[in-house]
Amino acid sequence: MWKIGIVVTDPPEYKQIFQYMVEKYNFPQKGSPEEKFWVDDLEDNQYKRLKGPVSDQKIDFSSPEDAAERIRTFAKTAGADIIGFTKVLPMMVFKGAKVKEKYAVVIGYEMDHEAIDSAPDPPAGKEALRAYWRIGSVIMKTAEFIRSMGYPATGHQVRTFTNDPPTILNPVAGLHAGLGEMGMLGILITPEFGPRIRLATITTDLKLPQGKQIDLGVQDFCKRCFICADECMGEAISREKKDERGFYKFTIDPYKCLPEFAKYDGCGVCIQVCPFNRKKEDMERFLVGVERLNEYFRLHPEKTPRRR
Ligand code: SF4
Ligand code: SF4
Repeated sequence: MWKIGIVVTDPPEYKQIFQYMVEKYNFPQKGSPEEKFWVDDLEDNQYKRLKGPVSDQKIDFSSPEDAAERIRTFAKTAGADIIGFTKVLPMMVFKGAKVKEKYAVVIGYEMDHEAIDSAPDPPAGKEALRAYWRIGSVIMKTAEFIRSMGYPATGHQVRTFTNDPPTILNPVAGLHAGLGEMGMLGILITPEFGPRIRLATITTDLKLPQGKQIDLGVQDFCKRCFICADECMGEAISREKKDERGFYKFTIDPYKCLPEFAKYDGCGVCIQVCPFNRKKEDMERFLVGVERLNEYFRLHPEKTPRRR
């Protein structure tokens, strides 16, 4: 079982998925003026500013929590929806990537509920691209802010838009920062927005506190739900857990997902159909329901619905 607090040490390996998307599917296609602007801004402006000079005027903090609070407040004003902190661990850093900083700020940005509801139609894919652009700006600004306080800081975007490989596996960083729990669909499920988020990370030498992993009942719920696997048109989501780098988890086959992803300019059906995809104001009640349902099936395993 994949349990809360599991220790995995193997670094992830980058399998050239983004290059494959660009070369085989010419993705992202920059179909509208907005999409063209977002992709160009990510590549030409934000990407170059993820690193930069550090101020020689260092601000002292009374504790890691004090520093975290300053960063949390700033990141919120820059547009972040959820923020967590963790040490940088080997299983978050892609093989071959050089990440020298020891602490990480993990940021989540909410995607619009209505736009995601339209999946697989293009408003959903366009929303995902907009969210990458917005979260890119949030981490660029927050990294600049940390550097302005005298500490090195580097933003880590998802490298969908340049030839550089990715550096940080954001969902694993988010898991350790206590932002959510991994769902069957391979995305972090958060207590605020379910899987309807995009993540990005900043690493820094400013000492920050370690978040605690959370248990929302997602793992228990997924093993009786399977909706994302049923609805995925590419049949990309596995119904059985497999051992991957020490994680015993559900896996996504990117080569089955990508043709659908490219066909629909972003797809996103798995996010849309997931029962955890709720409006923020409904989440608290829903999570109470999840807890009750999980408890019921723990007490009455014979009632578990049969799956295909
Ligand atoms: S994005 Fe679409 S094709 Fe890819 S895993 Fe989700 S539902 Fe399946
Ligand atoms: S759709 Fe169901 S099985 Fe898939 S991640 Fe959401 S809760 Fe888990």
